[in-house]
Order: sequence, then C-alpha cells, then structure tokens
Amino acid sequence: MANKCLLRFGNTLSKLSRSNAVRHGRCLSSLAELPDTHKMLQKTCRDFADNELIPIAAKLDKEHIFPAEQIKKMGEMGLMCVDIPEEEGGTGLDYLAYAIAMEEISRGCASTGCIMSVNNSLYLGPIKHWANPEQKEKYQTPFLHGDKVGCFALSEPGNGSDAGAASTVAKLDGDSWILNGTKAWITNGYEAEASVVFATTDKSKKHKGISAFIVPKPTEGLSLGKKEDKLGIKATSTCYLIFEDCRIPRENLLGPEGFGFKIAMSTLDAGRIGIAAQGLGIAQAAFETAIEYAQKREAFGSPISKMQTVQTKLADMALSVESARLLTYKAAMLKDAGKPFTKEAAMAKLAASESATYCSHQAIQILGGMGFVTDMPAERHYRDARITEIYEGTSEIQRLVIAGNLLKEYMSS
Ligand SMILES: Cc1cc2nc3c(=O)[nH]c(=O)nc-3n(C[C@H](O)[C@H](O)[C@H](O)COP(=O)(O)OP(=O)(O)OC[C@H]3O[C@@H](n4cnc5c(N)ncnc54)[C@H](O)[C@@H]3O)c2cc1C
Repeated sequence: MANKCLLRFGNTLSKLSRSNAVRHGRCLSSLAELPDTHKMLQKTCRDFADNELIPIAAKLDKEHIFPAEQIKKMGEMGLMCVDIPEEEGGTGLDYLAYAIAMEEISRGCASTGCIMSVNNSLYLGPIKHWANPEQKEKYQTPFLHGDKVGCFALSEPGNGSDAGAASTVAKLDGDSWILNGTKAWITNGYEAEASVVFATTDKSKKHKGISAFIVPKPTEGLSLGKKEDKLGIKATSTCYLIFEDCRIPRENLLGPEGFGFKIAMSTLDAGRIGIAAQGLGIAQAAFETAIEYAQKREAFGSPISKMQTVQTKLADMALSVESARLLTYKAAMLKDAGKPFTKEAAMAKLAASESATYCSHQAIQILGGMGFVTDMPAERHYRDARITEIYEGTSEIQRLVIAGNLLKEYMSS
C-alpha cells in the first residue's frame, strides 16, 4: 500500500513537472519560489530525512554502516532514478527535482545523499543516455528502485583531475573485451552490482582513445581493494576496483568506441549539480544546528543569538547557502531546458561545496565546545562537507572550467 502511494505520488509529480520544466526554460530569472510539484517533493524528502535519516545518521557514520534499508525505501519512493523516464520504469522527474531531493536527503545524511547521487547521476546518467535497449534491460531496470546500486569508475591511483590520462586498458579478444588496470576511490565499490568503467582502447589517440564499458559485479578478474578509512561520508564504501585480465562480453561497450572521455565529462557536468545539492544539504543542516543552538544556549545572562557577532555569522551562513542554492537551481533548470549548463554546474558545485565547508566551520564555532564532540552533528557536517570540494572535480578544476567557458564567451575578435 505504501509503495502504491509513493508511486502514485511519483507519477503525479512527473506529469506536472514536465509542463513546469518548459516554463522554467522560458523564465529562469523569475523563479521566486518553487512550483507546487517541487514543493511537494521537497516536503516528502524533508519528512523522510527528519524521520528516517537524522535519527540514525550519527550511528551510520560512527559504525560505517551502508544504509541498505533506507536506500531500499528511497528506491520505492522513486529517489534512486529521479530523471529516468517513466516509460523506462523511472520516476520521470526533471533535474531541478533531483537537485531538490538530493539537498533534502543530504541534509538528513550526507552519506546517503552520496550513494543516491552516484546511482542517479554517475551510474544511471551515462546508461540513460548511451545504453542500447538490451543494455538498459540488464543494467538500468534492476538499478531503478533500490534493489541494486551501481558505481562509476574513472579515477585511478595515478590520475584523478587529469582523467584523460587513464592507464586502464581494454583489448578486444574475439567476442570479449579484456580489461587490465586499477580504478581508485570508487564510491559504492563494495555494494555496487555493476560499474561504468573507463578504459583506453587506443593509446595513440590519448583521451579520444578512451571507451566506456559496463562491468557487472562480480565478474572473474575483478577484485576489490580495502575499504578506504575516510574523514567523512563514512557510511559509504570507497575502494579500488582491480582488473586483472577481466573478461566482459563485447556488447558491454557503452556508446561508441572512443567516446569514453566525452561520456565521462558529460556525466560529470550533470553529476556536479547533484554534488552541489549535496553540499547545500550539508550547509543547510549545519545552519539549522547553529541557529537552533544559538537560541537555547545562554552566556552572560542571555541567549547567544542576541549577540551581534553570532547574528553576523548566522546571516553570512544563510546568505552563502541561499546564493549557492540559486546557482544550483539555475544550473538544473538550464539542463532541463536543454541549454548549455557546464559553466553553471561548475559554479553551483564550487559555491555550494565552499558553502558547506564555511557553514559547518561556523556552526562549530557557534556551538563552542559542543561543536567539537560527537553528541552534536556539527562535527560530522564539518567532516562530510570536505569531500564536496574534492570529488567530481576539485574546486581548482571547477575554477578552470568556469574560466575556460568565460574566455570562450568573452573571446575578443
Ligand atoms: C571519498 C571519495 C570518493 C570518490 N568517488 C569517486 C568515484 O565514485 N568514482 C571516481 O571515478 N572517482 C571518485 N573519487 C575520485 C575524485 O574524483 C578525485 O579524488 C578527484 O577528482 C581529485 O583527483 P586526485 O585525488 O587524483 O587529486 P589530484 O588530481 O592529484 O589533485 C591534487 C591537487 O592538485 C590540484 N590540481 C590538479 N590539477 C590541477 C590543475 N590543472 N590546476 C590547478 N590545480 C590542479 C587539485 O585541485 C588538488 O588540489 C572519489 C574520491 C574520494 C576522496
């Protein structure tokens, strides 16, 4: 019964959201508040975060537990395949909806948000755009509703920012591709039942010789490294994927041979909107922790919220989150309208990830000693925030993307 209600909710949203997406495209700048459908989604996700994620987030973090039950529930709510079309079994919403849902889930638990973002944008994203119907049946359908999650393997021990320098290779051998090499830092590595993997099929063509593959897990010749012991998002698994003569069927090439770099970069463009939203969720959670505490904690005979230095901090935090949120919505709406959004996605990710770090730093300051201990969530927000400035392109790389696009826009003739 619950599932039916949630599915019906998803269907209603999807129909309404299609007309809204068109409207957004026409008047990006006049969006003073969200359309009703997106508000409904926001409330549903916020309630889920309040009831199902916030109460367990500290335990998941402390004991490094993958939130399997919550991911399954989110799958039933349509949150693991937000922008996959309804006719393919997905929720059929737009990217603005995805960003809103990601923010709310990450506000409850940044690790859960991370798992959601990898499945939605890094795994299903390239499959949605590049897989053929047979590949979709095998590698999209079972990954839509939280029964299975996927992962995305681009980074290597020797290259992260310089993704075009991939040294993992794939060689054709009859009806199989044989993969050799190591992928590093792979989120969902332990739980994922398939991965989109990037490997070089023609070294002489440099980044134009990289191709994308779908590799099911387990597969002979694919093993996992140890789980990384991380600063934050500790409820996610991160590990090496090690390919040693790993044989996969020839038909598991994703998109045309040599299109891997293009597939990876376009996937990351969209993925950055999701990471921006994850940063917003962490920033918002830190802000809420701080403003609530400031009104309860007394010093020198009155709540610390009466002190102007504390008020200034709260104002600056709210300003930073709200500015980053508008950039994130703008990037999502440009994508929904079919317009270029690479620069805006980089701006959103940069602003929101820096907002997450800034707000969680300030929240600790407002909580004083209580900010420094695990009885309160502020220290977890601070640790979780940091990754949003690193993965899917560091802040330095976002600035390069923004500047590169600006120089093209303002090219002097
Ligand atoms: C927890 C976690 C999860 C991750 N999940 C995934 C995943 O699921 N899949 C995946 O493929 N990868 C994943 N990554 C990898 C992540 O995307 C990379 O760590 C990131 O892109 C940075 O690469 P790097 O670590 O090799 O740093 P490097 O590229 O070595 O960069 C080191 C420093 O040099 C700077 N730098 C590098 N190049 C330039 C330049 N041209 N100009 C200015 N500064 C530069 C960087 O900004 C950074 O400050 C994950 C990483 C972590 C930590």
